[in-house]
Amino acid sequence: MTNKNLPFGKEKLEAIISQHPTPFHIYDEKGIRAYARRFNNAFDWNEGFKEYYAIKAAPNPYLMKIMKQERFGIDCSSMAELEMADRLGMRGEEIMFTSNDTPDYEYLKARELGAIINLDDISHIEYLEKTAGLPELLCFRYNPGNLKAGNLIIGHPEEAKYGLTREQMFEAYRIARSKGVKRFGIHTMVASNELDPEYFVETAEILFTLIAEISGELGIHIEFANLGGGIGIPYRPEQKEVDLEYMSRRIREKYDEIITGNGLAPLRIYFESGRAITGPYGFLVSKVLHLKDTYKRFAGLDACMVNLMRPAMYGAYHHITVVGKENGTTTQKYDVTGSLCENNDKFAIDRELPVMEPGDIVVIHDAGAHGHAMGFNYNGKLKSAELLLREDGEVVQIRRAETVEDYFATLDFEGLKQFAV
Ligand SMILES: *Cc1c(COP(=O)(O)O)cnc(C)c1O
Repeated sequence: MTNKNLPFGKEKLEAIISQHPTPFHIYDEKGIRAYARRFNNAFDWNEGFKEYYAIKAAPNPYLMKIMKQERFGIDCSSMAELEMADRLGMRGEEIMFTSNDTPDYEYLKARELGAIINLDDISHIEYLEKTAGLPELLCFRYNPGNLKAGNLIIGHPEEAKYGLTREQMFEAYRIARSKGVKRFGIHTMVASNELDPEYFVETAEILFTLIAEISGELGIHIEFANLGGGIGIPYRPEQKEVDLEYMSRRIREKYDEIITGNGLAPLRIYFESGRAITGPYGFLVSKVLHLKDTYKRFAGLDACMVNLMRPAMYGAYHHITVVGKENGTTTQKYDVTGSLCENNDKFAIDRELPVMEPGDIVVIHDAGAHGHAMGFNYNGKLKSAELLLREDGEVVQIRRAETVEDYFATLDFEGLKQFAV
């Protein structure tokens, strides 16, 4: 079971709304920091352990600044994400660049920042060499193929576009070494939103075993094993979060056996989690705009799929609290909708919720990762503001809402006047 409490009461939230109109995303600094500390503490047995926050999950520099203070690095996979790292003053091995189908200008930027480059394909050794030059340290992304059963979101590894095959891994390190690369890392990521800690233990075991084989065959030292992201969160109240301490203990057993046992220590363990770090600590706050009774009962919010598309995209469950009615005994079944001209614009379908009225405040939970970040502008919808609830209760706007002017910013209406038809 997971408690679906809010980090603010009704009065506090009403005060926030009086300053910042709904809809908006709000992040809980205390929650993010507490989780970051737990994560670091769980792995404190591993010298040099580091979590690289997958910035795509919530690409806001204010949040990243907090996580940087908690000793997290940043995991980037695009030009804008590298630029974000740059603007945050992040450099060198604070940055993991895990991309795929990568263009040359991104490799150039990654090299300029001294980021750890994690190659997704064997052909990219030569591509990187020609475009940006090979760095001293190189990492390769392993795709274990049918060695590992897939999980729901990412699918079967053999079908996934990511990573190198087992044979290619050996070849890649051999080529890289022959081209003068001196330091090596290894990476894999085969799960997304996985709640079973054993899954990560097994992933670590697969990677540790491969390290032993590669080191044995090529005589190279692999410095770090990046276990990727994919740590799930309990979106549903009946689910349980991943027990980090247990997971770490079990990974340590594998480490002692395979890494230390084969004289391969030290090996730094890295993660590049996004969802688990900020997901549960972000909330989409909106208001009931209209109630509608037809063949079904609908509660229409002032937020829509543009603000959080996971329910529409994956049929994902997001817990919903009608603020001030948490213990309401009278409930009704609702489809909770937005205003997009798409019938899948629903935050919940047939959800039993307290009886609602227009103006009620509705909070959608676990929106802190892949929430605002996945926003889009279809139907002329605008992305909302992002707020941060500081540890002392202060609320800071960390991104303003888009305006219609932003929406039109890439169009030239002056040019339109000259445009003869
Ligand atoms: C998306 C992604 C992550 C983060 O995944 P989460 O599920 O948010 O933990 C990490 N690494 C890579 C390469 C990714 O694509």
